[in-house]
Amino acid sequence: MIKFHPSARQLSDFVEGTLTPAISLMVSAHCDMCEKCQRFVEIETESLAAQMVSSASAKLDDSGDMAFQFGDMLAQITALPSDKQPESVVTASVSHHSKPGASTIELDGRTFTLPRTLHRYIDKTGNWSSLVGKLWQAPVDLGNQGVANFIFMGSGGSVPEHTHRGTEYTLVIDGEFSDGLSRYDTGDFIFMNGEKTHTPKAEGKEGCLVFSIVDQPLHFTSGLARLLNPFSHLFFR
Ligand SMILES: [Zn+2]
Repeated sequence: MIKFHPSARQLSDFVEGTLTPAISLMVSAHCDMCEKCQRFVEIETESLAAQMVSSASAKLDDSGDMAFQFGDMLAQITALPSDKQPESVVTASVSHHSKPGASTIELDGRTFTLPRTLHRYIDKTGNWSSLVGKLWQAPVDLGNQGVANFIFMGSGGSVPEHTHRGTEYTLVIDGEFSDGLSRYDTGDFIFMNGEKTHTPKAEGKEGCLVFSIVDQPLHFTSGLARLLNPFSHLFFR
């Protein structure tokens, strides 16, 4: 069951289009998996549209320039949903046999169905590489928005204890994990910043697939993992 959602503020910013495109992508993907946030976004969208209509008609009273105002308003309303861009038609990368219209990625013979928002990034996803501690990572090219990662934690696998200089957004795509602070389940939306230290670890036999965006390399805080710090910009980002 989903327990962790974007904040009301983040959802409103999402509707207003003021989030960065990368964070907007995370929120949109969460909404694909979460009926509660989907409804919130629908209601916010309707009320924003209503506000625009009333402010457009108020402006209309002032200027009388109807064509311009309405064109403006429609442009803003149609710009609202972030997932309406056309499906990419780039062909297949070899790593997971993706094709246009694909909705799944594969690792080690397992198939994971992705939330709709992420489908158009399947053919922008690179090869899986094996990291320490039963971890697998596949980078996702977000264009000028940087890089996201699919991270798969095999059963019992964990990311060494770390904190963040920047922010870390994580969406649980399949499975569950805990990090010493909480337990997270499929669909959970997790925001971390420099205030917290955590050690993500997969729960259960099936392992856990997450989609993650960090804006700065992680900073490992314990034991031997501290030796990874000089290299942390190479992975987990
Ligand atoms: Zn939610």
